[in-house]
Amino acid sequence: MAEDVATFTAKRGRPPGLRVVIVGRDAPSAVYLERILRGCETVGIDAGFVELEGEATEASVTAAVRDLNDDPAVDGLIVQMPLPPTIRLRAVIDAIDPAKDIDGIHPLNAGLLRLGYDGFLPATAHAAIEILRRSGIEIAGRDAVVVGRSAVVGMPAAFILVKEDATVTVCHSRTTDLGSHVRRADIVIVAAGHPGLITGAMLKPGAVVVDVGINVVEGHIVGDVDFASVAEVASAITPVPGGVGPLTNAILLTHLIRAAERQAPPVPTARPVLSGGDR
Ligand code: NAP
Repeated sequence: MAEDVATFTAKRGRPPGLRVVIVGRDAPSAVYLERILRGCETVGIDAGFVELEGEATEASVTAAVRDLNDDPAVDGLIVQMPLPPTIRLRAVIDAIDPAKDIDGIHPLNAGLLRLGYDGFLPATAHAAIEILRRSGIEIAGRDAVVVGRSAVVGMPAAFILVKEDATVTVCHSRTTDLGSHVRRADIVIVAAGHPGLITGAMLKPGAVVVDVGINVVEGHIVGDVDFASVAEVASAITPVPGGVGPLTNAILLTHLIRAAERQAPPVPTARPVLSGGDR
């Protein structure tokens, strides 16, 4: 990424720009923001945040988003979730310019993914699949189970897996006998927000498990998977913390660089000088 950023900066005279919109600040969002900003600094991205007070209104948040849409130095923006309950999520998402929507939450990008076209993927779902690819795990033709059907993680992960030729089952809180579905899977992606939901006894031996969950239990961050029992049965498993989370942040920055390159006007090339000769 650092090389891509340096190339972009040399060509355009400015680095790619990222802004995070934050409404109020709690401990997890401060940690998340700090990690993103540190990652940007490492690779040379111009990153910053726009902080609105806790009592921000829907109008003030959407106005902040529109200002960033109109700012040519900003190539990508993300809005820190969750928003206060008084602000409609949909109104804020709709305000984001799809070209700057590097976390793939705008309906245009969700629709492109659904139709199999090339838009911005939600970074967490993208990271969950990318970790499989980079670990050399075959996806095509395998049975995959995704636990969780949220618009930001579960469903996009399922659509990406289908695009990669897996046969996919999506489970959720109303699934009866979760274990019977999970047991058939070669690949299990868990994004439920439920610590200890998946245990070794539910798995096919040799299955690959990607744990997207982030939960705080007795002051510690844990995933949705009972790591100890699952690690004994699985052929590969992602840790929490240190698995999908850090890759999500890195993926987000690759999306930013792509957004910057796509939005940049063509660089004028030197035209051949036509000589008038002696005429
Ligand atoms: P969400 O919107 O709350 O969705 C959770 C999904 O899990 C829902 O579809 C829910 O089913 C399903 N579910 C809940 N309990 C279940 C159960 N007992 N059995 C089967 N399915 C169950 O959460 P999310 O935003 O998708 O996030 C999921 C997890 O990933 C959370 O722990 C979150 O903190 C974590 N996360 C991690 C990252 C990262 O970078 N690693 C990023 C985002 C989120 P229903 O649809 O029926 O309610």
